[in-house]
Amino acid sequence: MLDPKTLQPVWRSYYWSAVLAGAGLAMQVCAVLLLPRLGFVALLGAGVVFSVGFLRVGFFRCPACGGLFHQKGWFSGGVNVFFSPACVHCGFPRWADPPGSG
Ligand SMILES: [Zn+2]
Repeated sequence: MLDPKTLQPVWRSYYWSAVLAGAGLAMQVCAVLLLPRLGFVALLGAGVVFSVGFLRVGFFRCPACGGLFHQKGWFSGGVNVFFSPACVHCGFPRWADPPGSG
């Protein structure tokens, strides 16, 4: 597992955004399964948490080239979101030290 404490700051924010998206998704499942009475409000709140995390990961900018790490163009390469292990523009690997960080 990744240890957020050893990650570069740029990846640390990326990591927590991914955690946020995962947590939002889990909250939505819980809201549906466990809290049917709170249903709508819980689902809405979880949806907001998920969206914030998901968008932050999906629109994360590559520390090497400045392009969108997972996407080529506006949603044209959306299939790459979350799945590309490296920048789709320059091939910079995920979790690697950004250039100039020493
Ligand atoms: Zn790049």
